[in-house]
Amino acid sequence: AIHVRDLHKCFGELEVLKGVSLTARDGDVVALIGGSGSGKSTFLRCINFLENPTSGVIRINGEDVRMISDGHGGQYPADRRQIERIRSRLGMVFQNFNLWQHMTLIQNVIEVPIHVLGVKRDEAIAIGEQLLERVGLSEKRDVYPAYLSGGQQQRGAIARALAIQPRVMLFDEPTSALDPELVGEVLKVIADLAKEGRTMLLVTHEMKFAREVASHVMYLHNGVVEEEGRPETVFGSPKSERLKQFIRSVS
Ligand code: ATP
Ligand code: MG
Repeated sequence: AIHVRDLHKCFGELEVLKGVSLTARDGDVVALIGGSGSGKSTFLRCINFLENPTSGVIRINGEDVRMISDGHGGQYPADRRQIERIRSRLGMVFQNFNLWQHMTLIQNVIEVPIHVLGVKRDEAIAIGEQLLERVGLSEKRDVYPAYLSGGQQQRGAIARALAIQPRVMLFDEPTSALDPELVGEVLKVIADLAKEGRTMLLVTHEMKFAREVASHVMYLHNGVVEEEGRPETVFGSPKSERLKQFIRSVS
């Protein structure tokens, strides 16, 4: 579960997040939508502590992240080990398939389990092979990323993220860099994860998909949650003019 309260993030003078709150209980699928530059990626990166939130409370899987003031209006995590521990239970998939290019697919999938989580090699391989099968890539086990299509690479990245047995999955526009004909295969893998009851936070431009898989939709505009609710409400009867316009512009 993820609980965020009143998250602010500034880059110098620029305030990118202006008090964003979110509660995702176990099994929730939260879709984050909004225009370019509205702060969606920054929000995900704060949850993962790839960025230090300027202020606000973040609780992940019941653990409050302890922050210390830096004396200049910002803050940083008090305990790096706590961040490492939390991160080891968060699976993140980015827009640009970020598989390690010098490793085969199976090596990509077993790397963190073996070298960070201390899983035995045989066990990591067995789990890795199951995951590759789940995302439909068994035959590509020993292939390098350069020889895979974008959709295959992204499914590989999802398998790698799942290999740490994450309690929460974060997706940042996982299909936006794909050729249109490859989008469906990746969305299908994500939809299956949603059906399994996995907790997910998903930034997407795929409105139809968000409507189908999300349990909650948040529309971010200029660092503020302008409207949120159940997908049928947010998409079916949006209240904000801006959201109406946004939905028209992307569908
Ligand atoms: P997109 O849909 O284009 O991915 P987004 O909603 O993910 O957009 P963000 O990437 O979160 O938007 O960026 C929000 C704002 O923060 C933008 O104005 C961006 O320029 C700014 N920003 C993001 N990262 C940094 C950074 N490291 N330093 C300074 N400004 C940043
Ligand atoms: Mg982004």
